[in-house]
Amino acid sequence: MGSSVPRIVDVRTTGLKRNPTSKVTSTRNTDTLVEISTDAGFVGRGSCYTSKALVDAALGLLRDQLIGEIAIEPERVSEKLHQMTYWTGRGGSVTHAISGVDIALWDVLGQFTGQPIGRLLGGRFKERIKPYASLIFAEPGRLREILSAAKERGFRAFKLGWGPFGRQSDAYDELLVRTARETIGDDCDLMVDPGGSVQFWPHGLKWALRTAEMLASHGVVWLEEALPPDDLEGYRELRRGARVLISAGEVLTRRQSFRPWLESGAVDVIQPDVTKVGGLSEGRRIGWMAQDHGVLLVPHGFNTAVGVAADLQLVSALPNTRWVEYITPSPLVDDILATPFALDAEGMLAIPDGPGLGIEVDRARIASLAVEE
Ligand SMILES: [Mg+2]
Repeated sequence: MGSSVPRIVDVRTTGLKRNPTSKVTSTRNTDTLVEISTDAGFVGRGSCYTSKALVDAALGLLRDQLIGEIAIEPERVSEKLHQMTYWTGRGGSVTHAISGVDIALWDVLGQFTGQPIGRLLGGRFKERIKPYASLIFAEPGRLREILSAAKERGFRAFKLGWGPFGRQSDAYDELLVRTARETIGDDCDLMVDPGGSVQFWPHGLKWALRTAEMLASHGVVWLEEALPPDDLEGYRELRRGARVLISAGEVLTRRQSFRPWLESGAVDVIQPDVTKVGGLSEGRRIGWMAQDHGVLLVPHGFNTAVGVAADLQLVSALPNTRWVEYITPSPLVDDILATPFALDAEGMLAIPDGPGLGIEVDRARIASLAVEE
């Protein structure tokens, strides 16, 4: 190899806490940054939606295969890691850890070439995209406050999820959605996510069909995870019977897991999470598979600003994208960048066009949010 090819010299992790004052430990946090340094001075960053303890354990398996590797061949290196962990990996923590590594290697390649990752993924179909404020349902009074505050911050699309929705009665669900629509107005996008991947989700197809009809009457864009995450048959029937778009996929890992969902027509919107699914390399391939089946890709992004930055690069490089998920307010998204993301007057987010992820992190803020070792 020529001396101009940078090689990996170290991989470090930082577990982050969502609440700066919490005492969460490295086994209990859910957001972990990955930092890959190279012998050429480039430092790439990635994000994993799992605990630092699990990422570190997975890196124990992967580290020997990473140190000394070429740092600007993300897709080959990630595929090598997937294939060498045929026994211990194929999903779960190993795939989550590879996700952070893959994103960091794309970031290195971008810095090395001076290009945004979206261009390196094949090209930028768009320069900006609509982020939706991802919020938890609350009782109507509080719900109005939460939505008004997010609209005040400039958002023009909103997703409400979990909380009391689907936990009390159909009438209460309708009240929540009507309250949300009245609060945001008719010109904003509204999505609903009951959170059917939660343990012991009590509802089935008939509830989902009834709920989809209620949501359609309030102009909701999509109904997300209305069924348990393995009910492929249920989703296929729900998609056929519902007027709203049907979405799912945030808990799936590895591109291969998405094939039956796309090939059998189970969803209108597929929602891989690049910080879990295997990174941008897997995300790109799922995105094109979705495109070929007439399905929109909306990245699940309930994690960090590094995760949002990766999502922005992915959606820029796919034609079948219209929204990105954006948790707000959140210190892990709002506070860890030197220049925070900012919405324009139309509630759109510019896709960074600097090298790699196109972001600069604030190390001091990251240190202040790091979990105890
Ligand atoms: Mg969700």
